[in-house]
Amino acid sequence: MTLLGDPVLHTPCTDVTEFGPELDRLIEDMFATMYAAPGVGLAANQVGVGLRVFVFDCPDDEDNRHLGHVVNPKLIETGGVTVRGSEGCLSLPGLEAGTPRFDYAVVEGVDRHGEAVRIQGTGFFARCLQHECDHLDGMVYPQRLDRFRRGRVLRQARRASWS
Ligand code: ZN
Repeated sequence: MTLLGDPVLHTPCTDVTEFGPELDRLIEDMFATMYAAPGVGLAANQVGVGLRVFVFDCPDDEDNRHLGHVVNPKLIETGGVTVRGSEGCLSLPGLEAGTPRFDYAVVEGVDRHGEAVRIQGTGFFARCLQHECDHLDGMVYPQRLDRFRRGRVLRQARRASWS
């Protein structure tokens, strides 16, 4: 798992252009890493690979389970109210902060075969989709926080055993 401060986590990922066994293996590795953590979503740069891929196994606020992966995702729509909810990240273990996110999000991309996929989420799952898209753009959630909360979580990160 790459941690806050690792350059690959703070660099925009590049599009996947090769579909095949290597991509399949990456996605399998990402699921295994996410479940071992455990987490509800994981971006490829969190396992040190700078490609635009993320995986998820995440409930929404109605407890519907959303399980899948997406390659070359684009956050094409967000909306609804902005909700400040508790958010954490496997790259900042043990920390969380109230992070504002849209209550609704739509992501379009392709699957591991290159077939078009469209993923729609509300509530906690919409939060996950926005969080993972941010990762692929080289962003982590403290960058979404107001100054007070960002300062606090970065201070906690500096003091954490993993940093
Ligand atoms: Zn994260």
